[in-house]
Amino acid sequence: MSESTVVNAWAAMEPGARFEPFQFEFGPLGDDEVEIEVTHCGICHSDHNMRNDDWGMTVFPFVGGHEVEGRVARIGASVTGLAIGDRVGAGWFSHTDPDCPCAQAGNHTLSPTSRAMIVGHHGGFADRVRVQSTWTFPISDAIPVGEAGPLFCGGAAVWTPIQKSAKPTGRVGVVGIGGLGHLALKFAKSWGCHVVAFTSTASKRDAALAMGAHEVVVGADPETLAARAGTLDLLITTMDQPIDWDAHIGMLAPRGRLHLAGAVMEPVSFGALGLIMTERSISGSSVASPSNTRAMLDFAGRHGISPTTEHFPIASINEAFDRLLAGEVRHRAILDVGG
Ligand SMILES: [Zn+2]
Repeated sequence: MSESTVVNAWAAMEPGARFEPFQFEFGPLGDDEVEIEVTHCGICHSDHNMRNDDWGMTVFPFVGGHEVEGRVARIGASVTGLAIGDRVGAGWFSHTDPDCPCAQAGNHTLSPTSRAMIVGHHGGFADRVRVQSTWTFPISDAIPVGEAGPLFCGGAAVWTPIQKSAKPTGRVGVVGIGGLGHLALKFAKSWGCHVVAFTSTASKRDAALAMGAHEVVVGADPETLAARAGTLDLLITTMDQPIDWDAHIGMLAPRGRLHLAGAVMEPVSFGALGLIMTERSISGSSVASPSNTRAMLDFAGRHGISPTTEHFPIASINEAFDRLLAGEVRHRAILDVGG
């Protein structure tokens, strides 16, 4: 059997370019790697940022896609616990040196050795992707086929602050009801929290309530937010645009936490007294460690949580991005790659 695999992908050839069909070849499979036959791949806003080289780290041709669902096609020599044909997923990270101190402590997302799926590595807008077994996750039948992909980036991004910082008795706010935010509502509701959704889009109100919000706040004018001063134990922001930081911090209860899950590129500015007098804190995180990703999948399966999605054939990848960027996707776009 040939060691190489020809991969049929969709790539942007330069910053900002539309995606176009692109073939490349994998070399020998690493001993610790899994080759996944991609069946579905979610579209994350980071795929757009990377396609545009917004973060200055994109390698072209650029094959995005880091919300992968598929089946194990090939297994490296040292991989255990996976079999050909297993349904699996993969997300933002693709490889981590298992011997680095961060990984040994279970903190793979913090490791300087961790490599991202779509940074100098071809992602899931393709019929095959290669991922270290550490970052390859079995998906149970409890999660509908074709719907798991967004859990691996958008889901993991909001799961981590909820799992680490939310108590079932707590009050959790979620700013933005897009790909990340709608999953935050579902997780926080099942976690047991009182959930408040914040959106600028009035038409998302009913959907937010259906997805687990106990209350929906439409608009972010200072009076509306001030009326909720001191009420939230955890407020997760999922937007990539600046918000009125002081007004949002003001909604936190004493020792409450503002957690940034959305990658705002502009500086975040706020008054120190908003933290000092009430011991509030501000934090951020990316996705979830391998063990915490598995815990998320277990939790999602047990509580019937999966993303709310719109599907597009991969040949319509550019139309899917157009719809995403127009803010029209409810609530996560998934590309159907196989068949
Ligand atoms: Zn992402």
